[in-house]
Amino acid sequence: MIKHNDLIIDSLDFARKEKSLSGSFPIKNLERVVRDLEVPQQRDGQDIMVTWSVRGHTDNVGKSFLTLSVSSVVLLVCQRCTQPFDFDLESTTVLELVSKPEDLGDDSIESIWEEVQNEKEQSFFSDKILSSTRLDLLELIEDEVILSLPYVPKHEDCSVEQDSGSDEASSDEKTSPFAVLKNLKLH
Ligand SMILES: [Zn+2]
Repeated sequence: MIKHNDLIIDSLDFARKEKSLSGSFPIKNLERVVRDLEVPQQRDGQDIMVTWSVRGHTDNVGKSFLTLSVSSVVLLVCQRCTQPFDFDLESTTVLELVSKPEDLGDDSIESIWEEVQNEKEQSFFSDKILSSTRLDLLELIEDEVILSLPYVPKHEDCSVEQDSGSDEASSDEKTSPFAVLKNLKLH
């Protein structure tokens, strides 16, 4: 198993030297993730794993980026029929490294909405993070997993009829600070 220290990188150095790292670990190591999941993340007595990779790169105007990929098959509980199901989590995100907090821009929800809703600016929309000589990849991986999980987990083709309504309503009341961001990511 990877020691936590191995997941600390000097982010700008990592990008400029086009380094890459990959690995896997039990999803239960991601405390913020498992806290919100309703069933133990095990299958046939084995821990469910998260596989990840990160690659550093720069563009021709000197911007630095990390491309982060995560994948797992997470055990979620269907909010319609309350049965567990396998959710294929597969996500890749490009993170631009900026050196000053002001370069992060105004990332309040309102301004992100404006940015996303503006067709012209949409192509310039990218996730930015602060560069650090001690960037914790585990935290980035955990954020990515959280953003990739469905807000209201459901079987794609759930056999339970939707007409009862009450379960649906109560699950919608679970608010997550990531819910809005998650919707944005679909655009
Ligand atoms: Zn279901």
